[in-house]
Amino acid sequence: MGINHHFEHLLKRHQLKRTEARLRVLNLLVNKKTATSQPDLESVIGDVDRVTLYRILNAFEEKGIIHKVFDLNGTANYAICSSDCDEHHHNDEHLHFNCSNCKNVYCLDELDMPPIVLPAGFKLEKLSFSATGLCPKCANKE
Ligand SMILES: [Zn+2]
Ligand SMILES: [Zn+2]
Ligand SMILES: [Zn+2]
Repeated sequence: MGINHHFEHLLKRHQLKRTEARLRVLNLLVNKKTATSQPDLESVIGDVDRVTLYRILNAFEEKGIIHKVFDLNGTANYAICSSDCDEHHHNDEHLHFNCSNCKNVYCLDELDMPPIVLPAGFKLEKLSFSATGLCPKCANKE
């Protein structure tokens, strides 16, 4: 109940109508440590059809609720944004860690990334940090 209430606020803040399917997608994404692909979402979300899910993900991305990140297979994955993203600007300049074994993508937003100062004349539009290696789960199996 409390959680759903929070999600309803989130939708409202981003001018999106509350629907059962939207709440369900939010719930799934918030509770995952890793970014999630659309096929993975499809397999767990139940009776939300593919087109609806596609539209929800697009709307969420446009509004600054989720951001897209590609895994090592080139598949788009989605993860919840930091609270300072909105429909005008995404501000997810955290490190994305790609596990070369399980192919999961982790948003390591607890790390402080160094400020980037570009040479004169360059105008920054988007900054992204990514790393490849083994996640703790896979590293432990070695
Ligand atoms: Zn964002
Ligand atoms: Zn892994
Ligand atoms: Zn991320």
